[in-house]
Amino acid sequence: MLPGYAWSFPLADGRVNLEFGVPRSMGVNGKQLAAIWNGILQRPPIREVLGNAEPEDSRTAWPIPARLPRAQLAKGPVLFVGDAATATDPMTGEGIGQALESGRLAAQAIAAESPTENAARIYERSARAAFQLDHRFSKTLSNVLAKPILTEMALRAVDANAWSRRNFVRWMFEDYPRASLINPKHWNKDLFNKSGAWAIQN
Ligand SMILES: Cc1cc2nc3c(=O)[nH]c(=O)nc-3n(C[C@H](O)[C@H](O)[C@H](O)COP(=O)(O)OP(=O)(O)OC[C@H]3O[C@@H](n4cnc5c(N)ncnc54)[C@H](O)[C@@H]3O)c2cc1C
Repeated sequence: MLPGYAWSFPLADGRVNLEFGVPRSMGVNGKQLAAIWNGILQRPPIREVLGNAEPEDSRTAWPIPARLPRAQLAKGPVLFVGDAATATDPMTGEGIGQALESGRLAAQAIAAESPTENAARIYERSARAAFQLDHRFSKTLSNVLAKPILTEMALRAVDANAWSRRNFVRWMFEDYPRASLINPKHWNKDLFNKSGAWAIQN
């Protein structure tokens, strides 16, 4: 399944919504997806968490668009945000944060429109500045994590201590901008000390 992953959302009465995601760009076809589905409940790491779970409903599949560097972000007066801008993270498929952020940038571009520069140009510039480096970094990492041995090594490194585990999870689920490690704009002494969404909730 690498560099894809599986996740489960708990529901009431001990039921869960079990999902997995894999990048189709790596040539995974429908038959291979079906094979992953058919064997997913027998995978040892999933059995360890869910026990002897039984499927009770039909399964569905949905594409998650993640191609922002190549995407058209506006057409005439129409600005594309969120999934319409294919702004999801190519490593995790998460796109709620990007949808909110691109919506905010589109609104700011409309408010800043002037006779010399239209909203589409302002939005295009700010959206590419906000997302493209993160996107490219994620894509590169995703290619690296396609190799099981490199994934094992990375997981061993992040499991070093409580600090590395905590910050890895925050980084993975985008409490920190994805490319903060390689983007000097984000290097400051508070990089790892911000509360973030996860910390506020918990
Ligand atoms: C299975 C799955 C799991 C995911 N899990 C996560 C996750 O855990 N975390 C995360 O960050 N992201 C996750 N994502 C990605 C995330 O859901 C999307 O990136 C995000 O919802 C995009 O927001 P959006 O507003 O651009 O689009 P959407 O949330 O798709 O909103 C578009 C809305 O427009 C409506 N609509 C469409 N056509 C019309 C029309 N003609 N007229 C009126 N309304 C219309 C749709 O019904 C929809 O409500 C997941 C995606 C999938 C498929």
